[in-house]
Amino acid sequence: MTYYPWATEAYKHATECIPEECCGLVLNVNGKEIYWKCKNISSDYKEKSFVIDPLDWADGEDQGDVLAIVHSHPDGLFEFSEADKISCKYNDLPFYLVDPKSESIIKINPDDIND
Ligand SMILES: [Zn+2]
Repeated sequence: MTYYPWATEAYKHATECIPEECCGLVLNVNGKEIYWKCKNISSDYKEKSFVIDPLDWADGEDQGDVLAIVHSHPDGLFEFSEADKISCKYNDLPFYLVDPKSESIIKINPDDIND
């Protein structure tokens, strides 16, 4: 299994956000990968979707390089939805899905997605 130095922080945030989806960024800050908590500002069901608060994203960018986008599916399947794939491609950044219950993380890259 791949080791993610930010995994514990991401599980913690995902647990705090239940029943809503958590979202965050993986940042490279001076060569260290950290989890950057963001607010989910999705206007519809936060249980089923996420939109990262642009202010949180901008604050993250001030700290370091954005490497990837992280979110959770508190009530859904532990797999990327079609909307996630579109968003991954659109943002042109890897996406991680975290599950705090099983402490699992899966990843998808924009290049993995065929349109
Ligand atoms: Zn999703």
